[in-house]
Amino acid sequence: MKRVFLFLIVGILASAAVFGNGDGEKERSYVTIGTGGVTGVYYPTGGAISKMVNRKSDEYNLKATVETTGGSVYNVNAIMSGDLEFGIVQSDLQYQAYKGLEEWEGEPQEDLRAVFAIHPESISLLASDESGIWTLADLRGKVVNIGNPGSGNRKNAIDVLMLAGIDPDRDIQAEGLQAVEAAAMIQDGRIDAYFYTVGHPNGSFKEATAGAKKVHFVSIHGPAVDDFVASRPFYAKSVIPVKANYPAANNTGDIRTFGVKATLCTSAKVSEEIVYSLVKEVFENLAEFKELHPAFAILSDESMLEGLSAPIHPGALKYYREVGLIE
Ligand code: GLU
Repeated sequence: MKRVFLFLIVGILASAAVFGNGDGEKERSYVTIGTGGVTGVYYPTGGAISKMVNRKSDEYNLKATVETTGGSVYNVNAIMSGDLEFGIVQSDLQYQAYKGLEEWEGEPQEDLRAVFAIHPESISLLASDESGIWTLADLRGKVVNIGNPGSGNRKNAIDVLMLAGIDPDRDIQAEGLQAVEAAAMIQDGRIDAYFYTVGHPNGSFKEATAGAKKVHFVSIHGPAVDDFVASRPFYAKSVIPVKANYPAANNTGDIRTFGVKATLCTSAKVSEEIVYSLVKEVFENLAEFKELHPAFAILSDESMLEGLSAPIHPGALKYYREVGLIE
């Protein structure tokens, strides 16, 4: 009798697992978060967000997965085409995409929506000692990775080169490699330097500074940089904490540069419920979230709403209003 009963229970459970409970319970939504290369900060950031969401998968009927991608520009375009539901995007590119500038000249991405801002990213330039590159002017004639076309750093690198009076097409040998390859390439002597717009610390610069070949960061500052930063709302001066993060780099102090913020973006087509659930999980567990990467240490509820230029998605807005972060 007992055994028959047990079989019955097991049978019911098994069919429930296969067929669902059939009482109109909602289907689970699957969302993908586009990030960047595995040695950057976007990839672990996507992992941290999905970790928060997935512990409540049953409650929210939501499962998030993370994809490594070419970076910000790729992420904006994939969100717009519906290939990704979420993506991490540099704040300068969020602005340009929504307004139809630069990469999106004349094609405003009107359905792009902001969710929240995350860590600061610095435009970072690393060179090998043997390349003789100690200032921006020394880049002339050198082999420099400015980044793959889908990356956010490529546009930043071109802007910095132009500010230094260097034509990226004529005055340097510009390479278009993914950031994930750059650390090994500088150690192999196949590139002299590389640009990466990224949070610190990150795996790429850890790898690049840990090899046998001596390398160092090059500062990006001066009057032309000051004017450029002052005239654009999404840029701010920043410092790369070299000593604390990359002790093997051949620098005597921290490095001055400028940068942006990483932001989470989505499309107006993604449902309010999905965005609300994701935002709620991250904000309600912010202390825990911040422990998932050292670049998150300075995050606060307020800082996470600064640096957004596309309209905030209604699902996120609903949460921010509920907790009084936005009127
Ligand atoms: N900021 C870079 C980009 O948009 C990615 C940095 C990262 O992966 O952490 O391409």
